Amino acid sequence: MTYSTLAMSIAESPTLRLNEEARLLRERGEAVIHLGIGEPKNRAPMTAILGATAKLSTGDIKYVPTDGLPSLKKAIIRYTEENYDRLVAPENVIVSAGAKQSIFNILYSILNPQDEVIILAPYWVSYPEMVKMCYGIPVIVRPEDGTFHPRFEDIERVVTSSTKAIILNSPNNPSGIIFSDEFVAKIVDFCERKGIYIISDDIYHKLVFDGKRPTPAWKFTNKDIENTKVIVVNGVAKTYGMTGFRIGWAIAPRRLVEIMTNVQGQITTCVAPFLQVAAEGALLGLQSIVEQLRLTIQNNRDVIMNELRTFTGVKCVKPEGTFYCLPDFRAYKMDSVALSEFLLKRAYVVTVPGKEFGMEGHLRLSYSGSIKEITEGIARIKWALDPNSPNEIYIGDKRMVRDWL
Ligand code: PMP
Repeated sequence: MTYSTLAMSIAESPTLRLNEEARLLRERGEAVIHLGIGEPKNRAPMTAILGATAKLSTGDIKYVPTDGLPSLKKAIIRYTEENYDRLVAPENVIVSAGAKQSIFNILYSILNPQDEVIILAPYWVSYPEMVKMCYGIPVIVRPEDGTFHPRFEDIERVVTSSTKAIILNSPNNPSGIIFSDEFVAKIVDFCERKGIYIISDDIYHKLVFDGKRPTPAWKFTNKDIENTKVIVVNGVAKTYGMTGFRIGWAIAPRRLVEIMTNVQGQITTCVAPFLQVAAEGALLGLQSIVEQLRLTIQNNRDVIMNELRTFTGVKCVKPEGTFYCLPDFRAYKMDSVALSEFLLKRAYVVTVPGKEFGMEGHLRLSYSGSIKEITEGIARIKWALDPNSPNEIYIGDKRMVRDWL
């Protein structure tokens, strides 16, 4: 039997793989702490649940328009006006099964084979794989060592006549940093002049700390929605803790939305209507839950930073948003895959290797869980790695003695 060479070259999602490994360990009764997963612990907003259940109980769950329920699109337009100060038309909006599908759909709809897409390291694991799935070439730009902020000059240097798009994700998964206004302004201005798409993945735009807020890329262009190269991606997964509902959207010029709609129509027909109604409920419901979530996560960020500060040899750039941080473990081990596996095997802590995000020697830690998970997780990592830490620890009800340092 033969398989597609391209499909076989696509890497397994490391976060989904780690979730599965953690689930299996938990099933075996091990006290696993998950610092890998990126999803808030809160319950979905009541308005989302009520909307979805009301729709389900009608029993009338059928195909709906490919580009999204008109009522959800209306709620997205309102959200866009309130949060981005831009009035867009329903023809500029397409709803997909998560922001992940929105991004894939955009890439599939703009790329020709061998077109290049600039991706800024550290990057979300799925970007390079999605570009490859669209027969494009991911071009990775790295920041100066020790920082996570890309430099405009480094981007300018890799642009060729094949450059079709750049992906911006600020606040950034996995580093948690927010790109400076000056940087985003320069990128937008440069790309608008060169005709390069800017895919602004704003999925974490409300999970920001200490009063900092990312300025939307749209603010730096004076072109209208039909003429700008800025495409905005957002969704309900992170802001409302609704990861399982799988609702995301893209806002783009109407011709691109038309093409994306045709593509999506051939693949998924439409997004499940009761889930769309749930997203509408979240967008139109009480917004104080977003602030509650933001405050909880900000507090978690402070806790994890305090724990990491006392970790000999580990350096960590302070996150300004998201629920991730990306500490540098090179003082212990360069090979982040081996380190992550070691920590899972010895300390039952799930982390994600920095290598997956283009940042070898680092581990991505999520602080979207409870304070107890964060403090205990870091204590276990310290125990496993730092010879200055006590060599005995309790994991669940098991007393563990470190005999490898
Ligand atoms: N973009 C980034 C940067 C993400 O971290 C994620 C989720 N991990 C997504 C997009 C996908 O979001 P969704 O769950 O809506 O598909």
